[in-house]
Amino acid sequence: MAVKRLFQGLTGRHAAADPEADHGAAAVISPNDAARRLELLDDFESGGFAWMWATDAQGRLIYVSASAAERLDRPLAELLAQPFVALFETDSENLDERNAGRPLKFQLSARNKLVDVTVRFIPARLSGSGRGAWWSISGHPKFDAGGNFLGYRGSAKDITTEYERKLEDSRLAEYDSLTGLANRHRMTRRLESTLAAYKAAKRSCTLMMLDLDKFKQVNDMMGHPAGDEVLRQVAQRLQRVIGERGEIGRLGGDEFQVILPDLDDRGKLGELAAKIIQIVSQPYPVEGGRAIIGTSVGLAIAPYDGVEREEIVRAADLALYAAKNGGRGAFRFFSADLKDEAEERRMLEEDLREALAADQLELHYQPVVRTADSMVVGCEALMRWEHPERGPIGPAAFISVAEESSLIIQLGEWALRRACQDAMQWPKSVRVAVNVSAVQFASPGFPAIVTSALAASGLDAERLELELTESVFMGDSETTDETFKVLKQLGVRLALDDFGTGYSSLSYLRSAPFDKLKVDKSFVDSCTQQDQNSAKIIAAIIGLSDALGMETTVEGVEAFDQLELVRSKGAKFIQGWIYAKALPQAELLEAMGSESFKIEPNGPDRHRPDRRSVFRRIGIIHEDHRYEAVMRDLSTTGARIDGLVGVPVGTGLVIDLGGGQLAVAEVTRSADAHIAVEFETPLVSDGAGGLVTRHRVSPYALAAAGMPLAALPPGNYPLSLGGEGWRQAAVHAGGGGPLSTGLQSRISG
Ligand code: C2E
Ligand code: MG
Ligand code: MG
Repeated sequence: MAVKRLFQGLTGRHAAADPEADHGAAAVISPNDAARRLELLDDFESGGFAWMWATDAQGRLIYVSASAAERLDRPLAELLAQPFVALFETDSENLDERNAGRPLKFQLSARNKLVDVTVRFIPARLSGSGRGAWWSISGHPKFDAGGNFLGYRGSAKDITTEYERKLEDSRLAEYDSLTGLANRHRMTRRLESTLAAYKAAKRSCTLMMLDLDKFKQVNDMMGHPAGDEVLRQVAQRLQRVIGERGEIGRLGGDEFQVILPDLDDRGKLGELAAKIIQIVSQPYPVEGGRAIIGTSVGLAIAPYDGVEREEIVRAADLALYAAKNGGRGAFRFFSADLKDEAEERRMLEEDLREALAADQLELHYQPVVRTADSMVVGCEALMRWEHPERGPIGPAAFISVAEESSLIIQLGEWALRRACQDAMQWPKSVRVAVNVSAVQFASPGFPAIVTSALAASGLDAERLELELTESVFMGDSETTDETFKVLKQLGVRLALDDFGTGYSSLSYLRSAPFDKLKVDKSFVDSCTQQDQNSAKIIAAIIGLSDALGMETTVEGVEAFDQLELVRSKGAKFIQGWIYAKALPQAELLEAMGSESFKIEPNGPDRHRPDRRSVFRRIGIIHEDHRYEAVMRDLSTTGARIDGLVGVPVGTGLVIDLGGGQLAVAEVTRSADAHIAVEFETPLVSDGAGGLVTRHRVSPYALAAAGMPLAALPPGNYPLSLGGEGWRQAAVHAGGGGPLSTGLQSRISG
């Protein structure tokens, strides 16, 4: 026992530390024993479970556990004396429900008590060095006896691992794992909250819906991994175009959505949509080749087209389907007269199936003329469908429906067989051209079907020309090459259609045995206008085609000025209305002699940019009166209107085009009951060949005048504004500036 005591004395150990000292008193640490408390605190801090921190009255960090600095990989000196808010911030993603939306800065300056607030260490993130660190901090403000604030005292612990897992989970729940874009769930929430906030703030917000065209073909022809890759690249391109202007989401499949806050100018939106369409339509390099897709875009604008989320989503959907039905690669603004075209599209596919089975489809033939001697050298077969209820439907609309199912293969086979049969009744010097969809071209039986169509009809292979578009190169390149080889062996001719609209890669021309290039109508449309480039492009394509030993056909020539221009650029073959539209077989046979077939050009002298005939009831507002009138035609810059007598030239009017579209105009001509007006601000495209005003009367202004806040109703509607008020509203609708105070006082007064 004595030895033991001596030993203890030498080592300085306390009796309680001796396990054998079974009846010594517990060596409790007295609250007054500062040294031992400090020792305990040291042990605690170095354990790394939790740390302590303190700030001064100015919010500067005056103490933090040394092991905390170690964990952050920073010298302690770098942290101390720094403002606390320069070192830590609350997470903008706000996973931390309790503290969501309450930045640390705010909480500290309010001297709130902090309980488990999740914060991020800023310098690590900014410098990119050091690991990201998440802390959960607690603390309370300390005051002296006089009530003066002395700073915070608090504790902190590292929660990086758990928090990052939580972030990842929420990202999975909110973001699309394939593209990294917001998912449907997040977009719904964002739209909901944006619209609610904007309604209160009387701000506008546009919803853009996108659906990729021909995406199914990428999946079918190139496989799903290629499809996924294309979706990823589409997402990147969208991000590049949209930038900070809005939030982009992928709703699933090939559907994307963009929320664009504070943007309601239909001119700007149309430009943005056109840019998106153009960029998405550029080819995608993917493993094993190049994918070619397009996109259609529908747009709806709150509050004009709807105020609630459901209304805006439905409106944008309807606009999207209208865009798709109008043909590929188009955008469309919502308008109240759009029907449920998604449903119509499904019905259209069914009807088309029936029409094919019941032999209700027809082929019409449009002559291709050699300009030198006006001889018809060939005819292109163009499909026509007279829908029993809906009347004629253009192939641009129904071919795209067929391409979304395998129906196009049957449709294409039917066209091929029919065209070969019909051509047998034509002079031998006249070839027949048949359009072949990329899906049809890639289908395994295609060469056999061509062989069979030729054999069944007895047509010489060299009289058959297949018109392909660049999208055929999207398929597996070995199969594509093989198909080209077989077709060449058969002796049929190959033409590359719509050249210049897609990627127009020269490598296609080198790699595939084309006999002919067809210059797209869009170049001809603009070649006689300001756009000097179109004429140059036409010349370049013809030159290129000549150099490669190919023929060129220029499509879409309607007027003599275009004819002269394209001839001067070297065009030798022309297909256009100036010679003939597509004719039914019977009419064609009537026009053809048995030996040769000649057509002289006949058309307007000058190509005029579309001035559309419309017969539409509109309202004319002049001073305090509103008159009914009929608009006869409309262009971006003006209109012709019937029904107003004796209006002097120079009169200022406001034209009410319906649906809140007011256009300020001036009378430029006046005779009897006809006037011509010029708009102060040009109209913009609605994406479907129609014209709309850039802006509309704001439903908020109407609400202020006592109408319920709702989407703008179609047609004209009463508005209790005086004459000058109408003008002001129209200036606003046309110019986009803030409502003048004059009008505001008029509305609220
Ligand atoms: P495409 O093969 O480029 O055919 C030329 C289009 O331009 C035709 O439109 C034709 O009517 C039109 N066109 C020709 N000259 C003029 C002109 O001077 N002025 C104007 N305004 N238009 C002119 P259409 O018949 O509406 O056909 C549109 C597209 O539908 C075709 O473009 C083709 O891609 C597709 N298509 C038509 N028939 C078939 C078919 O049997 N099979 C497949 N796969 N596609 C077809
Ligand atoms: Mg064609
Ligand atoms: Mg074409």
